[in-house]
Amino acid sequence: MLVASKELLDKARAEGYAIPSPDFVDSNSVRAFAQVADELHAPLILSFAEVHLEQMSVEEAALLGRFYAERADAPVALHLDHGTRMDVIEEAIARGFTAVMIDASSADLAENIRRTREVCELAHARGVTVEAEIGHVGTETEGNPHAVSESVYTEVDSAVELVAATGVDSLAVSVGTAHGAYKGTPHINFERLGELRDALAVPLVLHGGSGSGDDNLTRCAQCGVAKVNLYTDFIVAALERVYGERPGNWVELLNTGDAAMRDVLRHYYRVLRCAG
Ligand SMILES: [Zn+2]
Repeated sequence: MLVASKELLDKARAEGYAIPSPDFVDSNSVRAFAQVADELHAPLILSFAEVHLEQMSVEEAALLGRFYAERADAPVALHLDHGTRMDVIEEAIARGFTAVMIDASSADLAENIRRTREVCELAHARGVTVEAEIGHVGTETEGNPHAVSESVYTEVDSAVELVAATGVDSLAVSVGTAHGAYKGTPHINFERLGELRDALAVPLVLHGGSGSGDDNLTRCAQCGVAKVNLYTDFIVAALERVYGERPGNWVELLNTGDAAMRDVLRHYYRVLRCAG
């Protein structure tokens, strides 16, 4: 069933597990993710990222996401990932997304608060859950090992101020992960994560989950992280499986990629302690 993500996140935080939030880019990936949630009877937060608007429109993502969420027995939220444009956020809410992220993490604190509050007012009136980001989760770019240094750790005082000033439901924090593929296993600042958990009543979100190390992710789930964003591992696994099995036709190719993505999601449900 289609649900808002707030209750799912609050329950996960209280019980010490995290919900996987995979980014879908087409009907195959969204179907594969929903199938696994149903198979494991586990909650799911389906994400569609603003950066994938070239791949499909908000309208298409909303129709596909809602279709698979509504027909699932498991509770499934439909979330806009890394919303930066107000027109995209407004459209997502109007078309039935049940959660949105406003990413103003590259702005200063006052501007981040202003934009987050604006989205909270709009979304909360419609029962839609809001995620903000503070600190900045950078991007690890191949060939540039220093790109990860663009990440900025989340400061506890700023996070407390942003949550108090906006009423946001969940908060993406930066504690050492990065978007994309890592060259090694990242170092997670668990001390900072613990301080953030203790200082904040809202569930925390970890971006850049792919390749962060299973032990790291399990520990994050037990330290207040209620949602982990995943993308890279799915598309890498699907392509590797296709290269390895060399399917003989297009339909077999799609099925091969889907099966690889389902395996990755099953793995992360266990790692995040969200399903047995
Ligand atoms: Zn992210």
